[in-house]
Amino acid sequence: MPGLDDLYREVILDHYRSPRNQGELETPPAVRTEGFNPLCGDEVIVFIDVDDNNVITDIAIGGQGCSISQASASMMSAAIKGTSMGEARQFISAFKGLMSIHEGELGGDGSEAEMGIDADVADAGDIRLGDLEALKGVVKFPVRIKCATLSWNTLAQALDEAAGDA
Ligand code: ZN
Repeated sequence: MPGLDDLYREVILDHYRSPRNQGELETPPAVRTEGFNPLCGDEVIVFIDVDDNNVITDIAIGGQGCSISQASASMMSAAIKGTSMGEARQFISAFKGLMSIHEGELGGDGSEAEMGIDADVADAGDIRLGDLEALKGVVKFPVRIKCATLSWNTLAQALDEAAGDA
């Protein structure tokens, strides 16, 4: 994956080789949704258990695809496990912001400005993206943005279904 910083590449490969929360949850009570990225052939299946207080008590991830899609799903599962549905939606917004800010930067004029924007993203609100910051290098490759956001869109569907069942 040329072009990604070594540190970021290591984080991504670690999640790809050792995916967190891999498996299935029993449905019901779990909600199951699946997403597909035909551009790359990525498939992500998301299972979430939500309790009466709207807390995501458990999450499991299935599917197959490229390292970006599967690493993003793994990082997402680790980030949102144990959060409320509201917090999970904030994570989705923050992650999509990370992707879209850099998308808008593609025509940018210099690395200094890019560094400034990176710092803003890292400090944005109460959301700590942690390992997910590793994926910001992906936006240098616009076709891979769909790989990175696939699991988050699939999670958003699961949250909608879980909310509908409440
Ligand atoms: Zn992909």
